[in-house]
Amino acid sequence: MSISKEELKKQVTQEIENNKDKLINFSKDIAENAETGYRESKTAAKVKEIFKSINLGFTDGHAITGVKSEPIKGKSEGPTIAVIGELDGLIVKDHPLADPKTNAVHACGHNCQLGSMLGVGLGLINSKANQYLNGNVVLFAVPAEETIENEYRINLIDEGKLGFMSGKQELIRIGSFDDIDSAMLSHATTNPEDKDLSIGGTSLGHVVKYVEFHGRASHAAGAPYAGVNALKAANIAMMAMDLQRESFKDEDRIRVHGILTEGGTATNSIPSIVKLEWRIRGRTIDIVNEVNEKIDRSLRAGAMAMGANVRIRSIAGNLPMLQNSEINDLYVNNANNIVGSENVKIHPDTQSGGSTDMGDLSQIMPIIHPRSGGAIGVGHGNDYFIDDYYKSVINPAKSMAMTVIDLLWPEENRLKQIISNNVPPYSKKQYIALQESRMGNEFSEYMKS
Ligand SMILES: [Zn+2]
Ligand SMILES: [Zn+2]
Repeated sequence: MSISKEELKKQVTQEIENNKDKLINFSKDIAENAETGYRESKTAAKVKEIFKSINLGFTDGHAITGVKSEPIKGKSEGPTIAVIGELDGLIVKDHPLADPKTNAVHACGHNCQLGSMLGVGLGLINSKANQYLNGNVVLFAVPAEETIENEYRINLIDEGKLGFMSGKQELIRIGSFDDIDSAMLSHATTNPEDKDLSIGGTSLGHVVKYVEFHGRASHAAGAPYAGVNALKAANIAMMAMDLQRESFKDEDRIRVHGILTEGGTATNSIPSIVKLEWRIRGRTIDIVNEVNEKIDRSLRAGAMAMGANVRIRSIAGNLPMLQNSEINDLYVNNANNIVGSENVKIHPDTQSGGSTDMGDLSQIMPIIHPRSGGAIGVGHGNDYFIDDYYKSVINPAKSMAMTVIDLLWPEENRLKQIISNNVPPYSKKQYIALQESRMGNEFSEYMKS
C-alpha cells in the first residue's frame, strides 16, 4: 500500500488531536507532582506507567531517573531520532503551585515537554505511521536540565553516582545517546514574540561554581578577634566578582550570577562555614574559561584578605547550542501548516541569556530546540503558568511528529543526508575530554593555625 507523505502527516496529527485530552491531562498531572533534577522519581514513574499503558517498552535508571522507550521502529533501517521531554521542575519558593515541602514547581514548563514527547509517540504508534519510515523514534524522558542544587549534585558526583552535572551531559557520558543520531525537544515560552511556535536562536555556555569559605568560629561579641569570619571573606569575594564586570565585552554576552546558600549558623558566633553557588556564562567556552579565572582570583582574594580558606569547585556546565538549520526549515514548514505562518516566529541565530544541556547534545549530533506558546508570566518566576495547554503540548507534538516524518521519509532520507553532510563539532570522546578538562577542585589556605 502506498501513501503520500502529506497523507501520513495528516493521519499522525489526527491521532495526536484525538488524544489531546490524554496528553494535556498527563502534562497537568506531571505539573502537580513537580520534582527537581535527579529526584524525579514520581515523575519517572508516571512516564513509565503511561509507556506501559500503550505497550511501549522502556529502560529506566538512565542518569538516575531517565526513562528511555524502546525504538518505535520504521520499516527499514535508518537513523534514530530521540524526541525528548525533560523531567525536572524548579525551586520557586513563593510560587502558588510550589510543593509545600520541597518548593518544587514546573515554572519552566518541562511538564509540557513530556506531554508533547508522548504525543509524538502516540501519533506514530496509533496511526502505524512508523511502518512507512526508514529509521526509528525513541521517546526519552531525561533528568535534570535546570542547573540547580549544586551541592546536592556535587555530592552525587563525589559518591560516584554521577560524572557530570546536567542530565543530558551525564546521559552522553554513560552512553545513553550512543544509539541516537538526532534529537528534538520543544520548550514552552512566555515570550509573546515567540508567537504560537518558534524556532532558531542559540544559548550560552557556562561553568558552575560551588564555593565554601572556611573560617573559625568564636563568640561574636565576647571574642570576635579570636575568630576568622567566613561571611566577610565571602562578602569581599562577591564584591570582587562584581568589580570584574567592567572588563566584560558586551558582545561576549557574559553573565555572572549566584546565591549564598549558607551564611552562618548563629548570630552570636563568627560564621565559620559560608557557601556560595555561582554561575559564569558566555558566548563561547573560551570566553567562559577566561572569566572563570577572574572569578577564581576574586574568590581567593576574599579568603586571602580575611585569612580564611576557600574551596573552589568548578563543574563543567552547558555548551552553547547549535540548531541544525535544515531540520529547523522542515520544522518551520510544518509549524506553518499547523498554526499558520503568521503565528510562527523564526529567530536569528543570536544568543539568548539562557543555557541548556541541549547545547551539549547539539555539539555531538544535529538537534532542534523549537519553542511553543501557551505559557504566561516570567520564566522561573512566581507568576509562571501554563495558560493554554493546547498551544504548549498539542501544537508542538504535531509539528515535531511531522518533522520526524520528513526526516525519515524513505524517498528522501533527509536525516541520513543531514548526518553525512554535517560533521558535529565534537565526537562523544572529544566532548567528554573537553568537559573533564573543565572540572576543578582547589583548596587555598590563608588561615593561620
Ligand atoms: Zn528553565
Ligand atoms: Zn526549561
